[in-house]
Amino acid sequence: MPGRRPPSRRPLLKACRKCGALVPPDTRVCPVCGSTEFTDNWEGMIVIADPEKSELAKELGIDKPGIFAIRVGGRVVKRR
Ligand SMILES: [Zn+2]
Repeated sequence: MPGRRPPSRRPLLKACRKCGALVPPDTRVCPVCGSTEFTDNWEGMIVIADPEKSELAKELGIDKPGIFAIRVGGRVVKRR
């Protein structure tokens, strides 16, 4: 009988407290802003592929590609 994998769970990521970048749990330093403070308390996920062309990225103050949380620690991340 072919084995079926269980449904994939939500990826375990943590968010940078400073810029909201979502990174794997074993990340020590945020690749976007260099912060070392992370939290599991985040909501909303956006993928920014091309910050220069993304209105949302501009609105959120994101200038680097990556995966970002909308809210960290219960509030919208302010990046500027
Ligand atoms: Zn960061």
